[in-house]
Amino acid sequence: MQGLMQDWPLTVDRILDHGASWHGGREVVTRAIEGGIVRTTYGQIHARAKKLSNALLEHGIRPGDRVATLAFNTYRHIEAWYGVMGMGAVCHTLNPRLFAEQLVYIINHAEDRILLADSSTAPILQGILPQCPKIEKVIWLTSDTHVPAGLPGVSYESFIAGQSEVCAWGGFPESQAAGLCYTSGTTGNPKGVLYSHRSNYLHTMMSLQADVQGLSAADNVLMVVPMFHANAWGLAFSAPAVGAKLVLPGSQMDGAAILELLETEQVSVSAAVPTVFQMLLQHLEKTGAQLPYLKKVLIGGSACPESIIRSFRDKYDVEVLHLWGMTEMSPVGSVGVPCATVAALPYDEQMPYRLKQGRAPLGVDMKLTDDDGKLLPQDGQTFGRLKVRGHSVARAYFKGEGGDILDADGYFDTGDVATLDALGYMQITDRAKDVIKSGGEWISSIEIENIAAGHPKAALAAVVGLVHPKWDERPLLIVQLKPGETATKEEFLHFLDGKIAKWWMPNDVVFDTIPLGATGKIDKKLIRQKFDGYHWPEAVAAE
Ligand code: ADP
Repeated sequence: MQGLMQDWPLTVDRILDHGASWHGGREVVTRAIEGGIVRTTYGQIHARAKKLSNALLEHGIRPGDRVATLAFNTYRHIEAWYGVMGMGAVCHTLNPRLFAEQLVYIINHAEDRILLADSSTAPILQGILPQCPKIEKVIWLTSDTHVPAGLPGVSYESFIAGQSEVCAWGGFPESQAAGLCYTSGTTGNPKGVLYSHRSNYLHTMMSLQADVQGLSAADNVLMVVPMFHANAWGLAFSAPAVGAKLVLPGSQMDGAAILELLETEQVSVSAAVPTVFQMLLQHLEKTGAQLPYLKKVLIGGSACPESIIRSFRDKYDVEVLHLWGMTEMSPVGSVGVPCATVAALPYDEQMPYRLKQGRAPLGVDMKLTDDDGKLLPQDGQTFGRLKVRGHSVARAYFKGEGGDILDADGYFDTGDVATLDALGYMQITDRAKDVIKSGGEWISSIEIENIAAGHPKAALAAVVGLVHPKWDERPLLIVQLKPGETATKEEFLHFLDGKIAKWWMPNDVVFDTIPLGATGKIDKKLIRQKFDGYHWPEAVAAE
């Protein structure tokens, strides 16, 4: 027997419709790419996004066509998301920090017809546009005065000028594609994750659970996580869904720029990868500034070191929520919110749990298996392959790249190695490709680098496994010191002593700059390339 409730397709245009209807005056504040602060509202964004839909329709864009963006977080980028998705086309977010060859591959693979780009990306586009013959039009996300000279295209403002603010959104099945985002392709070519309206809508509902993002209408949210990275962690949907004020940093993510927005916009919640908050904390230390409005930060994308969690809480009374997820999961997979048992512990005893990546919210199933797919125990010790399934998890990549990606029970292999404990807390020990295999045992690079990053002189720390004549691989610790600091190898080894197993101790420490990849994470592939053929000190090689 069928239920008798209304069947309402779960399409994301309803989210901005709701934001405009019930929170229409709520502000969206942008640090503009051209400089200065721009204030707009959900009501204005809704009207302008409809104008964009009409302009795209007039150009001949139809449902299912791919419209790309190459842009940082701004109000025009938000309009582009809704204007494209609302009319049933697919919004393809491109990461401006990718290498030119990767962008060319992705644009051509996706068959993008239109490209909406920040004017600051002109130098990138100049090189790649001739190699992307399917792009029919470039629309610069700016006004006429800032359109880059010498390149094709029109300004966004002139493109939408004169269009009607009335345009029918939705009306298509909820299973229709809404967004496309390629994973960074650390192995093989980048692969496209094709979000549906339904997966994004349900991901929004999931994110709004109190134990996930838990946003409210009274929050002011600084969305540092870029819209081109993993669906902006769902915040571009969840903020208008509840009527939270949205603050957008444009392309400036340094400590001073972030602090200014936190203060002037009285931001209560922010979200970014650990390196962004590391820069903010260093800036706060230097200037002595405080964070009177900020209550909560969502940190994910790579493991959050203890030093960040403690600094936020002890010095600024800010709660850190540690999240894990991936592009293929829309992206939220788990959140480290204390459960009743953990919350009852003294703060120091909560720390081992806060450092874990957390528990699965409603909508995500997780399991650990060995390489043969055999289920592993949930004892907090046994490492295994982490596999997931859920309504917002990919079931295939765009155009079938990578073939069949699910196991017989519908689980997707995340490529992460993790443990699961009796309380349901998952902890990532490594990406499968970063695990250090020493004498047949596994060493977690993440755990060592998180402790090393807590050394007062360290700005960043990375650990990679390098070939060793006796043990197959041994860990090398690379430390980027804070500006003006000097340190010795012994200082860092002494700092790690007693905090990690003796046989995990790095065999050498190198002081160097640490490269960050296109999503602000430490780029271990580059580090491994750089240290390829590295000669361990003689004594170490003989150990
Ligand atoms: P990429 O980093 O490849 O560009 P994603 O943003 O989708 O693409 O990265 C997802 C991966 O990032 C996860 O599979 C995991 O390895 C890592 N990751 C994400 N959040 C965390 C976290 N809190 N702790 C450790 N690793 C994380």
